[in-house]
Amino acid sequence: MKYRKLGNTGLSVSEVGFGGEHIDNTPYENVAKVMLTALDQGVNIMDVFMSGPQIRSDMGKAIGDRRADVILQGHIGAVWQNGQYARSRNVSECDLFIKDFLKRFHTDYIDLGMIHFVDSEEDYRDAFESEYIDYVQKLKRDGVIRYVGASSHNAETAIRMISTGLVEVLMFSINPAFDMLPADTVIDDLFNDNTYRENRFAIDPKRAELYRLCEEKGIGITVMKALGAGRLLQEATSPFGVGLTPTQLIHYALERPAVASVLMGAKTPEQMLESLHYVEATLEERDYTVIASGKQSAMQGKCMYCNHCLPCPANIDIASVTKYLDMAKESGVTGTIRAHYEALSAHAGDCIECGSCESNCPFHVKIIENMRETVRIFGI
Ligand code: SF4
Ligand code: SF4
Repeated sequence: MKYRKLGNTGLSVSEVGFGGEHIDNTPYENVAKVMLTALDQGVNIMDVFMSGPQIRSDMGKAIGDRRADVILQGHIGAVWQNGQYARSRNVSECDLFIKDFLKRFHTDYIDLGMIHFVDSEEDYRDAFESEYIDYVQKLKRDGVIRYVGASSHNAETAIRMISTGLVEVLMFSINPAFDMLPADTVIDDLFNDNTYRENRFAIDPKRAELYRLCEEKGIGITVMKALGAGRLLQEATSPFGVGLTPTQLIHYALERPAVASVLMGAKTPEQMLESLHYVEATLEERDYTVIASGKQSAMQGKCMYCNHCLPCPANIDIASVTKYLDMAKESGVTGTIRAHYEALSAHAGDCIECGSCESNCPFHVKIIENMRETVRIFGI
């Protein structure tokens, strides 16, 4: 495993890191196996955006006496309300869940305290123009968090955040599909093969500016969504017309300026090992230039199964519903898909079409339409 400097923090992080999202709702034995597979292969940075008590306790237990080997990235404002993840800027509530984090991870500090999920202007105001930001700074003064980070999917907002001078680490969604020039920006370029060949990759100027600014300011980037929720792995769903490997996508992200670690999700130890193959991969295996010959489209509107759209007043696990919808559309309603869908505690038919999820979704997914389609397909 190679390690990189995380901006100016003085920390060295493994090029391949770990994001805990996909081991949520799996048995403790699996949580431990996946995490120990990562740790034993030299992974030393782990993101915990999840707020659920069980997954936090399980992850804390799995780390056990290896706390000093792990750089924990915890999120300030990821809270648990009525049995669901939710976002909050309420200082008392945030504090409750930071204390909960410390207790369940058997620790008295969080290495990277992330200002959680700031995408829109409103998110920015709620986080940076309120007592929430004072609370974040107090956590740092008190040594509860060692460095202040922030997570975002929006380049403009991320630039605004890092310009405050308060953010030392940025968690950002990076993959070649997200990075590409928006289809409506420079129309002539879209018909020019050389746009991709000569410039290698036409990265959205705002995103390029963000990476450059992070590099200049010494703000290390930890990467989320490097695989585009698995869509970039499949020819059928990749916007490039070819399926890419985790190794190619990790390499792509690591080549952006300021990027220090790519946080890979894994549901099983095998998936973790597949990502860790990057460490020993050849240059040919890492080469992702095949994307330069593919066709262009955007990931906007496609569900990444991240559940940032919660909370839902009908208690619908929107990511899972959408995942089963997508699977049913791709392969038909098999018995397994139906059984998994029916086992959910709330179904698309429970949707009251309040729309709150759509304004929370960073990928502009038409969730209400998806709920209607799910009811048409599954009947509930
Ligand atoms: S609808 Fe949007 S926020 Fe919800 S899981 Fe899908 S991508 Fe994430
Ligand atoms: S629109 Fe439906 S799925 Fe979305 S938050 Fe409201 S009830 Fe939940």
